[in-house]
Amino acid sequence: MECKNTGEILKIKLAGFNPNQKRNKDGTWGDGGKNISKFENEIRNNKKETAALYDKDGNLILIKEGNLSSVSFNMGELVQMRGNTLTHNHPNGLGFSRADITTSLQTGLYEIRAVGKYHDYSMKFKTDFLAYRRQYGTGVWADFKKAYNDSNFIARGKTDDWVQGKWDTGLTLKDANLFRSHTHMTELAENTEFGQRMLIYRRD
Ligand SMILES: [Zn+2]
Repeated sequence: MECKNTGEILKIKLAGFNPNQKRNKDGTWGDGGKNISKFENEIRNNKKETAALYDKDGNLILIKEGNLSSVSFNMGELVQMRGNTLTHNHPNGLGFSRADITTSLQTGLYEIRAVGKYHDYSMKFKTDFLAYRRQYGTGVWADFKKAYNDSNFIARGKTDDWVQGKWDTGLTLKDANLFRSHTHMTELAENTEFGQRMLIYRRD
């Protein structure tokens, strides 16, 4: 796969149906997981961010190159995200940014993934924000903001404790940042009401 650094979307034709392709047991076509992990291994160690959007069957919808710390999307790209999986690389190797989660919520992604030097990160969304409001009758953004800030606060405290306990082990700032970003997302997904309703977080 070749990505030119133009910031343009490289649209991939989806229509080329292979008549020999067999349907999976779950009803999907092809081997989506394999496509995504192949792409992730290609971008994992890049110095700039690149993102790709896949549908539930693992078909590539679009690829976009960004800069050192972000990829920007226009409206036409954002509307294609609903129900699909967006993956990208994080050159710093850390977990999800706030923008990663808000973009996912705004566009109704099924899953956002980030890969880097140390880990693969995944956040899945149990429902979209319209369904959230119907079900819980509260403001999804206010709930998100509070949950994000509360879990960030707790993650800071846990990171301080963790660093204190390892002070003489040659711990680096990178180690502390990895611990903190992982703890933040774990707290957000598992220990806030919003996260329990909406989020499934995983780090491999
Ligand atoms: Zn990101």
